Amino acid sequence: MSSYSTLNPSQRILMGPGPSDVHPRVYSALSAPVVGHLDPEFLQVMEDNKSLLQMVFQTQNRLTLPISGTGSAGMETCLVNIVEPGDQVLVCINGVFGMRMKDVAERCGAVVTTVEAAWGEAIAAEKVEAALEETAFKLVGIVHAETSTGVLQPLGDIAKLVKESGALLLVDAVTSLGGVELAVDEWGIDLCYSGTQKCLSCPPGLSPITFSQSALDIMQNRTSKVQSWYLDLSMIAKYWGEERVYHHTAPISMNYALREALVLIAEEGLEQRWQRHLKNHQALVRGIEAMGLEMAVAAEYRLPSLNSVKVPEGIDEAEVRQYLLREFSLEIGAGLGDLKGKVWRVGLMGHASNIKNVTLFLTALENALHRQGMQVERGAVYQALLG
Ligand code: PLP
Repeated sequence: MSSYSTLNPSQRILMGPGPSDVHPRVYSALSAPVVGHLDPEFLQVMEDNKSLLQMVFQTQNRLTLPISGTGSAGMETCLVNIVEPGDQVLVCINGVFGMRMKDVAERCGAVVTTVEAAWGEAIAAEKVEAALEETAFKLVGIVHAETSTGVLQPLGDIAKLVKESGALLLVDAVTSLGGVELAVDEWGIDLCYSGTQKCLSCPPGLSPITFSQSALDIMQNRTSKVQSWYLDLSMIAKYWGEERVYHHTAPISMNYALREALVLIAEEGLEQRWQRHLKNHQALVRGIEAMGLEMAVAAEYRLPSLNSVKVPEGIDEAEVRQYLLREFSLEIGAGLGDLKGKVWRVGLMGHASNIKNVTLFLTALENALHRQGMQVERGAVYQALLG
């Protein structure tokens, strides 16, 4: 007889850096019967996912599909398929995920140059321009929504500069896709990847990607084999294209889940969804400021899906997070790297971006601060929430 208890995870409210709360309809999709990965019914799910992803990425790119793996697999797919040993790559770093991009590019044999900004600040277009004047890069990588800091990177000017230089633009949209405006074709993004567990409200497990025609041309003219068998897009594209050549068994249930999550976005409307994320973020900021606390990122660069709040002097930040989890089953994240111990990271992603969660979080945070002896102006928070 097994001595293991029945699996019974708690029903959390996930307001950390991800995963975020899964929509009930996505949970239902996960429990639908598994069919074969070449079953005509599954092939239709694959086709639906491709066109629904084109809608959320705002692209006509034919090579738009979910990679089997988490967001890092999407990052790696973009880099291993484009970069060959000795290639010049520019990576913009202002947090954990720019650092990871550099690491992956170096593992592909790239000669990496970096443009950096302090954690919590955006990358300045002038710095990118200066680097582009020095070197002819094959690819420039940048994070749109830096989950480690809560910075939303403006892409317009940088995308133009990169295009003029002739390099490909790679954008990490893990925490922006489906939550924050992103227009792959209009902005001139060549390679973009995301993850299912943030603003799409799915469990982690798939990484939507999209490749422009320019990226495909470069991929097709490689002189060396792609280092990774599993992430070699020339083979994956044959499985997701008309040939249906077996490459690996697609995670059937996760593709059902993604389909349902994307249908939910289509039903809500992409722009309405961005607006909802923005509105709830603004309510959270009003509440935080009414409480006498401060946001860590300057107003023009704040990411609606991930809010960094400065930890006030004298407050035990870990105790606050533990209290929220223990008493409210509410998860928020700690600061990372340069921001470790200095901020809380509060996610408002996808299904979890709602005024009920904002109100609960603010109330729970007030209680937590009060318990540590901080005087909080309670009435002001409710007033602020009313707008
Ligand atoms: N890029 C960003 C901006 C992220 O926030 C994350 C994960 O949090 C990743 C990449 C990596 O994604 P994953 O953890 O799903 O592999």
